[in-house]
Amino acid sequence: PSTALCYSVKGPEKQYVGFATLPNQVHRKSVKKGFDFTLMVAGESGMGKSTLVNSLFLTDLYKDRKLLNAEERIHQTVEIIKHTVDIEEKGVKLKLTIVDTPGFGDAVNNNECWKPITDYIDQQFEQYFRDESGLNRKNIQDNRVHCCLYFIPPFGHGLRPVDVEFMKALHEKVNIIPLIAKADCLTPNEIKKLKDRIREEIDKFGIKVYQFPECDSDEDEEFKQLDKELKWRTSRTVTLSN
Ligand code: GDP
Repeated sequence: PSTALCYSVKGPEKQYVGFATLPNQVHRKSVKKGFDFTLMVAGESGMGKSTLVNSLFLTDLYKDRKLLNAEERIHQTVEIIKHTVDIEEKGVKLKLTIVDTPGFGDAVNNNECWKPITDYIDQQFEQYFRDESGLNRKNIQDNRVHCCLYFIPPFGHGLRPVDVEFMKALHEKVNIIPLIAKADCLTPNEIKKLKDRIREEIDKFGIKVYQFPECDSDEDEEFKQLDKELKWRTSRTVTLSN
């Protein structure tokens, strides 16, 4: 914003209209431009990924989806499919991109099935780096993956090797939020056991999952309370997807 420190000529009194208006200008500009948010969803087919995304954002992002039969899934390769929607809430625009990874974990041999996903994430970092180093930096589109929801099946007794491998391959590149898929199929007791087991394994394998950042000590009490509650609910993040 290029407002110089100057006097307002309007009105009888002289008044500063300088840098004190900067926060408003920055806020107005950001709101006008909107925000980019890219969410990746990963997990086997049938875990409820599309249902969760559709209900989170109240849209139908999967209208043209082709479902594979069991035979086709044996040799399934992992694809990366992007769905984009523009959402507006109280005047704030959000360009939401959902990166879907159909085929992940579906084949009989799931060796290195996370590779196309890590390659995709790296490519987005490289593209952003190139755009930022270029001359036209005004309209850069941020396609980096900001968050990954990882669906863990509810039927096992903890993490499977493919879950560990996937999270280890991605945890340095993206914020991972592990979810227990279809947790409504389990009793509260079973959920607790599975959650504890998964947390133990996450620690054991040194996997870093997303943690809420610390809230500033000078925030007001109400905000601090809200922050505490959120952290408690998602305590060391193994969330339920239903
Ligand atoms: P995707 O292949 O991972 O995208 O899975 P879908 O969203 O297509 O869901 C597969 C099936 O599971 C559908 O029949 C859904 O109705 C059902 N489903 C989705 N989410 C849940 C859930 O949280 N609990 C239960 N019990 N079923 C669900």
